[in-house]
Order: sequence, then C-alpha cells, then structure tokens
Amino acid sequence: MLCLGIESTAHTFGVGIADEKGKVFSNVRSVYKPKIGGIHPTEAQAHHLEKACETISIACEQAKIKISDIDIFSFSAGPGIPKCLRVGAVACRMLSQKFSKPIIPVNHCIAHIEIGKISTGLADPVTLYVSGGNTQILAFAEGRYRVFGETQDIGVGNLLDQFGRTAGLPFPGGPEIERLALQGKKFIELPYVVKGMDVSFSGILTDCERKLKTEKLEDLCFSLQENVFAMLVETTERAMAHTEKNECLLTGGVAANKRLAEMLKIMCEERGAKFAVVPREYSGDCGAMIAWVGILEFLTQKKSDDFSARKNPSRIFITGKKYSLEQTKINRFWRSDDVEISWL
Ligand code: AMP
Ligand code: MG
Repeated sequence: MLCLGIESTAHTFGVGIADEKGKVFSNVRSVYKPKIGGIHPTEAQAHHLEKACETISIACEQAKIKISDIDIFSFSAGPGIPKCLRVGAVACRMLSQKFSKPIIPVNHCIAHIEIGKISTGLADPVTLYVSGGNTQILAFAEGRYRVFGETQDIGVGNLLDQFGRTAGLPFPGGPEIERLALQGKKFIELPYVVKGMDVSFSGILTDCERKLKTEKLEDLCFSLQENVFAMLVETTERAMAHTEKNECLLTGGVAANKRLAEMLKIMCEERGAKFAVVPREYSGDCGAMIAWVGILEFLTQKKSDDFSARKNPSRIFITGKKYSLEQTKINRFWRSDDVEISWL
C-alpha cells in the first residue's frame, strides 16, 4: 500500500511517498526563501503553486512509481498559514478525485511525532516538538497526544530566526546561531521564562535584540541557546516525571541543533531514559511524514469507524471514517490534542 503525502503548512512544499511498513520511497522538498523578512503568505503561496506539479512528479520519479499506483493521498490540513495550506489541500483533492482514491487530512504536529517514532524506534516517548511556528511538549495519553507544555507566544524557531534577522544573519537564523554559539565564551544573563509547564520567548527576543548594541554576537548566540534550551529541557523533564514515561523524542526543524540534543541527552541519561533525535532528513517539514500518517490513519479507519463518530459527531475531522471533500477543509489552528488517534 502506497500513500503520497503533501506538506504545505508554511515555507516548504514537500511531497513524500511511503508504504505501510513506514518505508519512505521518496521525500522531495521545494522551499520558499523570503528575500527580506519572514514568510510572506502571498509569496509563499505563489511559490507552492509554481512548484506543486513539479515536486509531485519528481517524488514519483524518485520512487520509481506511476502516480496511478498510489493507493491513498494525504495532505497537511493544519496548523499553518491558510494561503499555504490551501495549495496542498487543492492539489491533494484533485489527485484523490482524478484517481478515485481516498483522501486523508493530516495534522502537521502529529506527523512530526509519528515520523520521529518510526525513524528512531521509540514506542511511547515524551516528545519535544520544536519548529519555526511550534513549540510543544507532547505525550500520548487516553487516546490523544496531550499537550503537557507549550509556548505562550512564538515558536523557538521563530525566536532564533527573528533574532538572526535583527542581527543581520541569513534566513533561517537557527543554523547560523548554532554555528556562532560555538565561538561564544561569555554567558550573558537573559530572562528565563517558564510558567508552570509553558514557556514564553518574545520577551527574551526583545532583550536579546537590545543587547546586540553592547554585547558580542557570538556571546549572545551562545547565551540565547543555553538559556532557551534549558527552559525546554526543564519542562520536558517534568513531563517525563509526571507521565512516568522513560523515552524522549526530539523532533521538528530545531531538532537539527546539536546543543539542544546534547542537553536533552544528558537529562535522559541522568533519569535512565532513552533519548533519540529524528534524523536530519525528517526533522524539517516534509511530505514523508504526511504520507506515513496517511497510512496509519487509513489502516486503522475501519476499526474505529462507528466508535469514533458516535463519540464525537461534531468534529470536523473524524478519525475512522472515509473523508468526504467537505471534511478536507484546512484548519489553520488545528491543535494536536484535538485529534483522536485511531492507531494507538
Ligand atoms: P520547520 O518549521 O519544522 O521546518 O523548522 C524550521 C526551523 O528550524 C527554523 O526556524 C530554523 O531556524 C530551525 N532550525 C533549522 N536548523 C537549525 C539548527 N541547526 N539549530 C536551530 N534551529 C534550526
Ligand atoms: Mg513543522
């Protein structure tokens, strides 16, 4: 069984093809890079529209399959930028209709978790999901991925990217800051904002930007990383203690950061827990993760069909049911803890 998944929540138009064992046959990306500033929704949409057909074709070529061999089509239905989401949704609806194959709307955050699990072998982790727009600590409990902690304002990736922009670094700022942080020597005190299990980054961004006038950039990059990663490790550890889970998964675009992985690894070793990082090829937004969740959901649909619909008939995205076109609307604020997980 083959699923073709389309990702288009923000900067990336990605297409991946996966099978029911989690084997990925292709994972092709076209990434929109703004000339100045952050993501401009209209420009990103134009990029996705221009690249959609080509990216789908390349994904099929690389997988050495014909598009008519695909059994299921899936797409990222949210959360994300509406103009971007719509491109993936429309492309997926057209493919599903043309080839008379099922269509599955996938929650982007859950796809980051599931691709992390299948690629690392972790079974039931506490997940630290860190990307441009999202920062959440999640764990499975009672039929859903529950959010144990999250950012109250911007995602940690956005913090790094915005600070990078103010400091004149190329976009995305995350990798540049990681590189400069290695040359930093002095630890500069910054706000440490943990509220219960939640974190907040916008005040730290303001403070860091102000300190650009008086401090060395390398020292600021070093201190920024140490400070915000410590906040994330602290809350992740508390979620592990609370849930009594002994696995930890780092996923999302910022998972590429070696220092964050190192800090989480130390925390896990001290607790006697397993730790794994999603491989680099799957850490950023990609189609493979959407394809894999399309498969998971499709294979478990029948089992939970009546049950799920009976339990909550008002939901837009009903797990365990074939989706009509009306049910494939995008949902820009779709929360991971709104999704009933049929496959666990
Ligand atoms: P995503 O939204 O999941 O595609 O992730 C993109 C985010 O990951 C951007 O904010 C990047 O700055 C960030 N990122 C990528 N590589 C690194 C890195 N090595 N260190 C920190 N952040 C990174
Ligand atoms: Mg993402």
